[in-house]
Amino acid sequence: MKCYICDAAITRENYSYEHIIINAAGGRLKSRDLICKQCNSDFGEKIDNILANQLNFFANQLMIKRERGDAQPIVGKKESTNEEIRFLPDGTIIPHRPKYEETAENNHVNISMMVRDNAELKKMAASLARKHPQLKEEDIINAAVHRESYIDGYTTFNLNVGGPEVFRAVCKCAVNYFKYKKGDTKYIKPLISYIKGTEDKDIVWMHYKDNLYDLNDDECFHMLHLRGNPTERVLYCYVDYFNTYKYIILLNDSYDGDEIGSTYCFDVLNSKVIEKEFSADYNRATLLDFFINKDVQPFERVQQCFNHTMAISQRRQRENHIGKIIEEGLNNAWGKSKYPNGTIITKEMVDEAVDEIMKKMEPFILHQLKNKN
Ligand SMILES: [Zn+2]
Repeated sequence: MKCYICDAAITRENYSYEHIIINAAGGRLKSRDLICKQCNSDFGEKIDNILANQLNFFANQLMIKRERGDAQPIVGKKESTNEEIRFLPDGTIIPHRPKYEETAENNHVNISMMVRDNAELKKMAASLARKHPQLKEEDIINAAVHRESYIDGYTTFNLNVGGPEVFRAVCKCAVNYFKYKKGDTKYIKPLISYIKGTEDKDIVWMHYKDNLYDLNDDECFHMLHLRGNPTERVLYCYVDYFNTYKYIILLNDSYDGDEIGSTYCFDVLNSKVIEKEFSADYNRATLLDFFINKDVQPFERVQQCFNHTMAISQRRQRENHIGKIIEEGLNNAWGKSKYPNGTIITKEMVDEAVDEIMKKMEPFILHQLKNKN
């Protein structure tokens, strides 16, 4: 096996698992026969991470499971106050930064601070105590009040689709899949300089065409479709992340290899491969035209796709949150020390649990009603 990028032999020393769809987006399909460790790490830093940034919004909002680590937090702006808030991948929302305010008044100083967790409280209390020796770190920590609330109204985010590095990363994804399907390296060799960024080519573009596949309301997946057509002399790939970021890649325009029609579909919500019918059998002229007369106004269709995936993420976030409320309520009512394991559940215990759960559920229901429209 040779690295298809740098031609180095892939050995026990320099092999690495290349994710065909990046791990940051929850991709699981991978192979150690594609590229060497050095190339994997180079392209990871130069292009894959930029694609990962774009896809992270949904990785975060859908709370998808990745092979390594969680999705990155995302930062949005509360529309009513312009305050920056950070969305953690487990559905928790915290202020983006801690707050610290010091105002001098006659002969005293008012200090107020807002921190996001215990570690931050400890750190800020320590630095405050250093600054004002008359304050004790312990007293500051004890004076802290825990507060939880819901955020009403809109939050705005900046999202990007495409861009030169992302196009190159998407091209690498398509080539990965072609090589994974045992395609001959000679057909993708001319793309290497493009993936490396040393040559420009018009071979990747956004692809928002209707009815390429059926999509149910509760479905969200990544899709790859590789098509090799020796009659039309074309080899191309369709790459679709989260049913929202959609690309077409012209891999070769003088293809004379075997007929290929191969689809891979990965359900990101349940982390499993699924079967999907896909059809995008373009003749040569139609296909080449995608890269000449580029579709430059796909925004309305991007928005539709975005809305589909966003609706799923909102349902998932809601279910996850209700699960947390029940868990916390039960914990508060039946904490381990109070009722040891094996205690027979009585009517009183159930009432106690319902009370604790409702205490937490009520603000949530109010929040839901308030933001219904
Ligand atoms: Zn290499």
